[in-house]
Amino acid sequence: MLTNCKFFTAKTAGFCFGVDRAVKIVYNNLDNRNKVVTLGPIIHNKNVVEDLQRKGVFAINSASEAKPDMTVIIRSHGVAQSVYDELSKIGAEVIDATCPFVSRIHKIACDKSSLGYTVLIAGDKEHPEVVGISGHCKTKPLVFSDEKELAQICDSISDSDKVAVLAQTTYNTKTWEKCLDVIKEKLPDAEVFDTICNATSERQSEAAALAKESDIMIIVGGKHSSNTHKLAAVCEKYCPTYLVETADELHKLNFGGAEKIGISAGASTPAYIIKEVQQTMSEILNTMEEFNLEAIDQSFQKIYTGKKVTGIITSVNNSEAMVDIGTKHTGIIPSSELSYDSSAKASDIVKKGDEVELIVLKISDKDGIVTLSKKQVDAAKGFEAVEKALEDGTVLKGTVTNVVKGGVILNANGVRVFVPASQATARRDDKLEDLVKKEVEFKVLEVVAAKRRVVGSIRAVAKEARAAARAKFFENAQVGETVKGTVKSITDYGVFVDLGGIDGLIRKIDLSWNRVKHPSDVVAVGDEIEVVIKDIDAENGKIALTYKKDSENPWNIFTANYEVGQVIEATIVSITSFGAFAQIIEGVDGLIHISQIANTRVSNVAELLEVGQKVQVKITEIDTDKNRISLSMRALLAEDEAEEIEEAPVAEEE
Ligand code: SF4
Repeated sequence: MLTNCKFFTAKTAGFCFGVDRAVKIVYNNLDNRNKVVTLGPIIHNKNVVEDLQRKGVFAINSASEAKPDMTVIIRSHGVAQSVYDELSKIGAEVIDATCPFVSRIHKIACDKSSLGYTVLIAGDKEHPEVVGISGHCKTKPLVFSDEKELAQICDSISDSDKVAVLAQTTYNTKTWEKCLDVIKEKLPDAEVFDTICNATSERQSEAAALAKESDIMIIVGGKHSSNTHKLAAVCEKYCPTYLVETADELHKLNFGGAEKIGISAGASTPAYIIKEVQQTMSEILNTMEEFNLEAIDQSFQKIYTGKKVTGIITSVNNSEAMVDIGTKHTGIIPSSELSYDSSAKASDIVKKGDEVELIVLKISDKDGIVTLSKKQVDAAKGFEAVEKALEDGTVLKGTVTNVVKGGVILNANGVRVFVPASQATARRDDKLEDLVKKEVEFKVLEVVAAKRRVVGSIRAVAKEARAAARAKFFENAQVGETVKGTVKSITDYGVFVDLGGIDGLIRKIDLSWNRVKHPSDVVAVGDEIEVVIKDIDAENGKIALTYKKDSENPWNIFTANYEVGQVIEATIVSITSFGAFAQIIEGVDGLIHISQIANTRVSNVAELLEVGQKVQVKITEIDTDKNRISLSMRALLAEDEAEEIEEAPVAEEE
């Protein structure tokens, strides 16, 4: 008796789900009114095959051997469509025990080849599974065994061909990774379906991990089963390993000194033999302690709808994630159950090796498939976070999904939150539609747990953020400082600029050195602009800004280039009762006083000048204090007359 010794059974020991399902299908059909046969041996296990033969179930080697009074069971590898057709022609009943993972590959092969895709299959072209997959393609598929063969095939495919790539379920994962590199380089638009089943590699990895921690390993399986020998070889690297075919052989083994014994089993070992081994080990060790029972139970763990389980993601494609939940079942999380974001791809949410918490949605014992939901667990956690946020005022994040009557709905970690319109935006005139698909921060206002009803406020957070930004701005901002902002709204009298949570106003006059008809002629809503702080009224929370730049100040340009006495051409821009204003350069006008228009007295300026007229003027005064310029047309006339007088011939006296 080994009182201090304990044993542990690997949860992946024995049949994979596909084989387990196929064997069960055969046993469930023993009472069939027809003669039951399997198309090829259902499993490479002597005990099972002999037991079935005793019960009258034999294997036939090809469909042509079937008879109309037979029930033919298709084994887990699956067969080509032509085999079903042949059996149907013969009139034999067909029961399909093809592993659902293999059936899925048949469907992809059929669908894609029907759509004109060239189908590439990674695998051994002689293997019954690959023969079966090929037999579901509408056009001849191209089978490759490794990355070199794939590269050659790629070179023969034209750029315009649509390509779908599949793999035999037992294809080597390392070679597959090398093939993916080739596809990426040579067929970047190909649709790739990772159809490799991890059952074998997972069984070996788990056995190796158990062997590392054990003093002895027991591998249960057929003496002639190659995968059982491979499993034993993996374990032998870490500890002494015994291979047994039945529980009786355990009595002959020497466990002396062992404190921990690990048990695993080959892919063709039925569950009842593993159970017998466990029971015999318990008798030998006489230590049916609590954890031992747990270890046994774990291999045959019961799951039920609504149960919360933890799983490890084993593979991901765009439509679903496969997950190991520690039972014989195959876990599938459809992408619709991964996230509430319907646009998110499965591969964006989880990756191989991730540990995830899940809820069991559906169990299909027939297929051995468990459908799971991650989003429901996330939602439950999200609800806890929402309840806590109500208590402590924490700010949460969520994404606005849609506008509804009276407000918007946002999703925060799977929790539906209603935000009334009055609480949705910082300003009443902001549009609710602009929030859709945006991530927002919000505070929880109300939670009705019984109805899963949550009410939130985006405005409360925005208000606090604005108050904080305001306080910071008034503490640090200086008049004359250049700051960046975003044009938020435009009115007839100016432009409001968001300076990062606080708004400043550029009056129309401060938008440009030139005349502005409407502020929208200068900037547009959403423009990122640089402005200069003109004035700060901290008491009333007002900030005046200017968009005018000193370097573009027309007065500076004028004074640098013009002087009194200079004669220039100017354009009449307005007529008044006391004279006319003429533009010298853009943004700088001078006044031609009514007395400076002509040599004679002028009573109506408009009789001599009109807007748009170009005139020659002399700059007679520049008032730099008041930024005023005086111009004169008359000064030029006087000069002309003087010149005329000088040039006129002197009359001779008679
Ligand atoms: S695909 Fe996987 S689960 Fe199905 S029979 Fe093959 S190894 Fe087993």
